Amino acid sequence: RRWIADSWDESTASLTGEQASHLIRVLRAQTGTEYDIVAGDRVWHGIIAGISGDSVRFNLVAEVQADPALPITLLLSIFKFDRLEWAIEKGTELGVERIVPIIARRSEKHLAQSAQNRVERWRRIARESAKQSRRSDIPAIDDVLQLKAAARATSGATRLLLAEQERSMTLRRAIDEAVKSAGEEMPSIHLAVGPEGGWAAEEEALFDAEGWKSVSLGPRILRAETAAITATAVVAALLE
Ligand code: SAM
Repeated sequence: RRWIADSWDESTASLTGEQASHLIRVLRAQTGTEYDIVAGDRVWHGIIAGISGDSVRFNLVAEVQADPALPITLLLSIFKFDRLEWAIEKGTELGVERIVPIIARRSEKHLAQSAQNRVERWRRIARESAKQSRRSDIPAIDDVLQLKAAARATSGATRLLLAEQERSMTLRRAIDEAVKSAGEEMPSIHLAVGPEGGWAAEEEALFDAEGWKSVSLGPRILRAETAAITATAVVAALLE
């Protein structure tokens, strides 16, 4: 388990609240006990220097190699906010490094209009989920982008359009090809997921023109959030 510092400086860190009481009451931690502490976006080997009331103070001994986020960017078309927020939380748990909310043709108008006002809330969800899953980093949640800009913005990555077309290749094959061509490196993978109503024909043509590959997750139609998380989990498993 990784503990997230509530306050820190270059040589000490303190935990308060639920984490401190878990350490003290459940784990009966003592002075001298050692734990990995996440302070800022770095992970440290920490040794308890003092326990008072419900705060635990650590000396930060040496930096621990932080587990890097997976080089996965999720382009999520705006769809029902509660489901979109679920996808942001699960994508964070799965280790994505970046989420780009995009306005697709079939994103519901009123959701598309108010999406940018939600971005701060989505950043908070990502922060909380990163903390809960003991990530040493927090995925970036970009400002809302129009689909055209998003389809063009990324280059150099393996860009995969999740589309349940029969002509799509399987995600597995697309990732195997990306891993092969990336050699020693870990390939950067961008996954674009459409809204409840799916991609419009001209959107698929645009992605195609911009060099995105269509990939299928099988013959069944998944909800957007299911597709987002399934694809992320499959890519994460293939990249790990
Ligand atoms: N296009 C479907 C239709 O016309 O009813 C609905 C879209 S689906 C609810 C939302 C998004 O999830 C799709 O745009 C696609 O990105 C992704 N998705 C759903 N099922 C998929 C599958 N079997 N393979 C790949 N992507 C899928």
